[in-house]
Amino acid sequence: MVKSENDKAGSKLPYRRIVAKFGTSLLTGGSAHLDEAMMSRLVAQAAQLHQQEREVVIVSSGAIALGIDKLGLTRKLKGIPFKQVMAAVGQNRLMQTYEQLFSRYNIPVAQALLTKADLSDRAGYLNARNTLLALLELRVVCIVNENDVVAVDELDGARFGDNDNLSAMVANLIDADLLMILTDAAGLCTADPHCNPDARLITQVERIDSDIECLATGASSKLGTGGMVTKIEAARLATASGVTVVIADGKDKDVILRLASGEAVGTRFLPAASKLESRKRWMLSDLCTRGKLVVDAGAALALQTHHRSLLAAGIRQVEGDFQRGDVVSICDPDGVRIACGITNYASGDIDAIKSMHSGKISSVLGHDYGSEIVHRNNLVVF
Ligand code: GLU
Repeated sequence: MVKSENDKAGSKLPYRRIVAKFGTSLLTGGSAHLDEAMMSRLVAQAAQLHQQEREVVIVSSGAIALGIDKLGLTRKLKGIPFKQVMAAVGQNRLMQTYEQLFSRYNIPVAQALLTKADLSDRAGYLNARNTLLALLELRVVCIVNENDVVAVDELDGARFGDNDNLSAMVANLIDADLLMILTDAAGLCTADPHCNPDARLITQVERIDSDIECLATGASSKLGTGGMVTKIEAARLATASGVTVVIADGKDKDVILRLASGEAVGTRFLPAASKLESRKRWMLSDLCTRGKLVVDAGAALALQTHHRSLLAAGIRQVEGDFQRGDVVSICDPDGVRIACGITNYASGDIDAIKSMHSGKISSVLGHDYGSEIVHRNNLVVF
């Protein structure tokens, strides 16, 4: 057994917030149909983690494959983006299957279809983060997939392109402790295990450097194209935001449970920074900070010592011109920066409701994004 960082920190569970990504080849066993027995085993493990008071988000592929299966199509439709149409057909069936499998454990599920454009937009990022965190708080297992219907290939850069990168963005979005990329290969190997008998599994990667990238792209590797390459990209993205990443074979017995307890299975990529450091770095970069909220002494104390959200009542002054979803600095009455966070309200709105009781927000503004001006989930206190 490998001790995880969380063990060292003395936390009860090695990894508490977990994103598990299931690839199409794992869910279909390489066939044209969903492998329900496999899916049922994966769900049983996810349900067990959920019952251990852990938080689980699943990023699931399979919609396109299920759409093709459902319509019995073997060739491309002319003039219509084939994959998008198939995803629209198959996503429904994918969710029905998850719904039914999780209902055995009385666990409610939700569906979130995301695009890169949604998460690049400030308000979209905040909305997605708030919704996913609220679902975790309500003990709902959220099943995420790319919104293939709107994520058009032609819109260069606007598409995730693959669920590996999507899973890394989701792990970053919700500050996950662990991202499991489950596939039908054992992990990253020193060579292609299909044609090189000397190939061995790399069990731990401390830093993703050019040697590691070469292994993923290596011409000799069958896993190279669209397989390991996107997985390594995803691992780079997630480890940079403080997430531990493992690429492992989803067919291995109890792999999800073993990984969650810190066991060394597959290839493990160590986080390149702590989650707090990475979030702080992002929030503190000058590019991101758009304005300032000066709070009273009571609010400063509530943020600093009680880890509370910032409410309108404690805000004395608003500086700068910012939108919902922007990062703002929070200063105490002496002007000392004590925190920063993502604001749920634009500067004009906060100016209108500052010092007021939260109950008045909707009557004053005519809209209401909740009583927190900056939710504690979106705050970094210094
Ligand atoms: N979103 C696609 C699907 O559900 C999968 C994309 C991928 O496998 O990376 O079929």
